[in-house]
Amino acid sequence: MKKTYKIEVDCANCANKMELAAKKTEGVKDASVNFMALKMKVEFQDGADPEAVMDQVFRACRKIEPDCEIYYK
Ligand SMILES: [Zn+2]
Repeated sequence: MKKTYKIEVDCANCANKMELAAKKTEGVKDASVNFMALKMKVEFQDGADPEAVMDQVFRACRKIEPDCEIYYK
């Protein structure tokens, strides 16, 4: 399952860090962040609960970039 989320982030460097953090999160098969479009595309592993996984993705992203936002709820 793939979903696309609107995000807020201040620069391409932080967007890249968010992408890496998302990729490392359990339940995420693949993730990519488009800084120009301010979108995060996430492919979930089979059986993963997208909202629960996104809670973890958001937490991981907030750790590296406290001002970032992911609109996933
Ligand atoms: Zn930044």
